[in-house]
Amino acid sequence: MILHVDMDAFFASIEQAINPRLKGKPLIVGSRQSRFHTVVCAASYEAKRLGIGSGMSSQEAFSLCPGLEFVPADQSKYIWTSEEIFKLLQDYGFPLNYASIDEFQLDIGDVPEPQKIALDIQQAIQRNFNITASIGIAKNWLLSKLASKLNKPNGIAMITDDNLETVLAAVPVRKLCGVGASTEVVLQCLGIKTCLDLYRQSGQFLHEHLGQHGLDFYASLRATDKIELQDQAEKPKSVGHSYTFPRASQNTGFIHAWIRLLSEMVALRLREKNLVARTVHLWLNGPQIGNFSAQKTYAESTDDGQIIYQKTLKILARSGPKTPKIRAMGVTCSGLVEQAYQPLFLEQKRREALVKSLDQINTRFGEDTIYPAVITLTRKLI
Ligand SMILES: [Mg+2]
Repeated sequence: MILHVDMDAFFASIEQAINPRLKGKPLIVGSRQSRFHTVVCAASYEAKRLGIGSGMSSQEAFSLCPGLEFVPADQSKYIWTSEEIFKLLQDYGFPLNYASIDEFQLDIGDVPEPQKIALDIQQAIQRNFNITASIGIAKNWLLSKLASKLNKPNGIAMITDDNLETVLAAVPVRKLCGVGASTEVVLQCLGIKTCLDLYRQSGQFLHEHLGQHGLDFYASLRATDKIELQDQAEKPKSVGHSYTFPRASQNTGFIHAWIRLLSEMVALRLREKNLVARTVHLWLNGPQIGNFSAQKTYAESTDDGQIIYQKTLKILARSGPKTPKIRAMGVTCSGLVEQAYQPLFLEQKRREALVKSLDQINTRFGEDTIYPAVITLTRKLI
């Protein structure tokens, strides 16, 4: 059995847990500092009841509730809490998946009383973090995720072979993960309104109308999922690239271009290994500075060359007020963890989609098809 833990209004609940003044109040967490020019990335249950939800502009939210509380998002707080919850769940000893920043899946096998474990997890999370979680239990991830939504907030629901049809008949099909607005329209046209309507269709019928997506629904609803125990051994400790110039240079543009290129190469290696890094390390060697090396660890991890580059530039600034004369340099990332969840905010989602597209183009048409313009400066002869 898969046990799906889904935190209730995660970011908003964390803010309320930290600041008791916000408890019980309608609250939104915005993706930017400015309360009037931002997008709601989380709403407390008190705000949800007023019709406020994620993705809405903050102006719209304030027009629905002028007394709304506003907090700008603080990613590092949410990531920290998420990782602590993950550790707490690890102690249960079941194979565990990080599904997203606020969703976790445990494979509890055939334990006799799954609800007891669910209740225990809920209570442990409440005790340690003062926030609530909803838990769904079923034979696969899709049904367990659906079950976690049925009694929100702070609910537990279990879908078994015995109650499967009764439960699915009561749930509109759009609640199923993977049914977006356009899929919903297709399903409505076919007369498929509830999850049970969808469940009753044959694989062939779903394939005809929804293609591969339809077949995936068919298979995922019926699957019995297993989560493998994570193998921690194979992860590299760091990823780095270095370069030695034919002779020392003090040309800032040229040096920056090389740092950018090395950052991009490191980032690509990270993405290939599905890793993200927290610590960025820069090493420089030159006739005046000798060996200079410094590193910095950040709360947010990354696999984006541009971000690694910006971080190395800040480290470079520590070497002195002027760009030093440099003969060799290296960019290394460490503090590596597996990429566990999707980017949290719209701007990051856009950036990640862009990087992914660039990778696809470069894989398909050759490595040097598209790259940051500044990198052309590395071809300059010195
Ligand atoms: Mg959630």
